[in-house]
Parts: sequence; structure tokens; C-alpha cells
Amino acid sequence: MKSKATGDLALVKKMNSYIVFHCIRKHSPVSRAQISELTGLNKATVSSLVNELLENNLVIEIGPGESSGGRKPVLLLFNERAGYAIGVDLGVNYIRSVLVDLNGNIIEERYEKLKQKQRELAFDTLTANIDALIKQVPDSTYGIVGIGVGAPGIVDQDGNILFAPNMKWREVPLQSMLSERYQLPVIIDNEANAGAQGEQKYGAGQGIRNLVYLSVGYGIGSGMILDKELYKGTSGFSGELGHLSISFDGKECSCGNLGCWELYASEKALLEEASHLGYEGLDELIAAAQLGNEDVLKLFDHIGRFLGIGIANIINTLNPDCVMIGNRMSSAEQWIMPAIQQTVQQRALSFHSEALKILFAELKEHSAVRGAAHYAIDRFYEQFKAI
Ligand SMILES: [Zn+2]
Repeated sequence: MKSKATGDLALVKKMNSYIVFHCIRKHSPVSRAQISELTGLNKATVSSLVNELLENNLVIEIGPGESSGGRKPVLLLFNERAGYAIGVDLGVNYIRSVLVDLNGNIIEERYEKLKQKQRELAFDTLTANIDALIKQVPDSTYGIVGIGVGAPGIVDQDGNILFAPNMKWREVPLQSMLSERYQLPVIIDNEANAGAQGEQKYGAGQGIRNLVYLSVGYGIGSGMILDKELYKGTSGFSGELGHLSISFDGKECSCGNLGCWELYASEKALLEEASHLGYEGLDELIAAAQLGNEDVLKLFDHIGRFLGIGIANIINTLNPDCVMIGNRMSSAEQWIMPAIQQTVQQRALSFHSEALKILFAELKEHSAVRGAAHYAIDRFYEQFKAI
């Protein structure tokens, strides 16, 4: 049995190793002397920990950097190609998937319309896309480190999709289905949480303390970053803002309630209203708006007003720094934004909206898929953290 002292030393070493690893990831390229300065660890400790990271191929050395006199230092670079992760945005009517390096940069991407929503058929399409990405993984030390999936519904902490009303799915154990098949770590989360993560790590949400990310696609979901952390609620189910009741006795929703916000402000709502004009998809409507079609501009204005009504409720409840509109509707920014701003101004309490920013997702349709991949990368890094 290990003595306590040995155990403590091992723990300290693991913690220091993670600190050095994190420092190289953040400040790369960086010299050993700089790491010592940045972390406060002595040079001998840094040197020995760096050697281990070099052996594990998580760090590589590159040519000498600037010298302040004397021998030029060798610089260390985080080896973002030591492994790869797969991210999937499982939409209600599409599957987008990416292969990313350990810094989350997209190496390969696939997109397929999801015509059949039945779970077996959708699962076949999902795995066909993952299989195709796996075939394209370059040679590396760690290969695929994990798979992250953003799913359109209520996901529990074990990665079961409990309820996805727009897919008509109940109790789908997606995490265990995928981890059994691929023998890899698999993380499943709600697609709006994944989108919030994607924007926080790589997009317009970087550095924002309190952020409500709205995934406005076929339905509406939300991911909340409160105090820089993803807020998931007691059971992981927070953020079903699409099912806020905004119309007493209103339209019937697939969740069983009446008058839910997403029935008036989502892509589905827009397409319903557009059908009598003969338009079938959001892309067609955007093309018509670009040509200045008055009827279509009115439709976008209408959706913007309804988005503004829900956003005013969010602002009054949470007083966030920022509400960000993401997913497919973000591509209609210029036609929905004036109505959103006007409605928010009319309806939100002025104290709450004073410092508020309404932004659109910077990663556009990639917020969720990159956030999903980030879950897998983060899980890989966990093993270098002290317990
Ligand atoms: Zn509903």
C-alpha cells in the first residue's frame, strides 16, 4: 500500500504537471524559463515535467525564440495534433459533424439532412457520419479521444435523451449506444448547452460572465452561462425556454402545453407562416429578403417581435450581460434585429436592460457542433488534472 506521503507527492506532481500543461496550452509558444516565471514553479521541476509532456507527445519543441542575451531558448508548443475529437450537432432535421484537433480547429466536416426521425434510422445516419469522420483521422499519438453530441431535447446526466418532442423521441440511451459501438468516451448534452459552450470557448461569448445563448432553429432551446459556468439546474434540465408560455390558451405544443414561445418565434413558426406565400425553407426566405420582398420582410419582422417578447422575459428574470441568438435563425440577423430591439426596449424593465447586449452567434451554425467537440476534448484533459 502507498504511504500517505507518497500519495501526496504523486498528487502534487500531477497537479504541477497539469499547471505546466495548461500554461503551455495557453501561452504557446513559450520557453521553459517563461513557464517557470508564469507558474512560480522552479526551473528543475518545470524541466522534468516538460520532459514528460514531450515524451507523451502533448508538447513539441520548436526553433529558438528571442533571446534577451546569451543562448537562445528553445520554445515549447502545445501539440494540438496529438489527438482528435468528434463533435456532432444532432438537429431535428439535419446532422452536422466535425473532426477537430485538440484546440478545437475543424479538420473535416460533414452535413446531412435527416429525413427520417425514427430513432433506429436516425441512429444509422448518425453512426454513418461518425464512421466517415473516423476514416479521415490523421495518424496521431492518441487518435480519437472522444465523441461529443449536442441533442435536441432533455438529456440527463448519464447521456440519455429523456424527451425530444420535435423528434418524438422518449428514453433514448444515446450515450451508451455510442460508447458501446465505438469504445470511446461519449458525452451527450442538450444542443443549446453545447452551443453556449461553443460560443463561450471559441466565439462571441468569450469573456462574458452571464450569457443566455438561444438556439433558434426548428424549436428554441437555451444554454445559460452564469458566472462563467454552464448552469444546468438540479437534474441537468435547465434552459427549456422554448416552452415558456407566452400565449394563454394559445397554439397546442408537442410538449403537451399551450402557447409555448417556440410556436411563435422559431424557424418552424416562420416556415408555417411562409407556407401560404409558397416558400419552403429558411434559405429561400433569406434569398427573398435579400431581394427586398415586402411580404417576407414582414414575416421576419413578425418573428423578430415574438423573439423580443421572450427575450424581454429572460432579461427581467436573469439580468444577464448578454442574450445571444444562435443556430439557424442567426443568419436572418439583419431582418429580425430591429424588431427584437424595439420589442425588448418596450417590454424589458429599463434597469435590467441598461447594460444588456443582444448579440448574434459568431460561429453561426457551428456553435453547437464545436461546443459538442469541446466536451470530448475537455474530458480528455480531465485525466491530466488532479483528482
Ligand atoms: Zn411546449
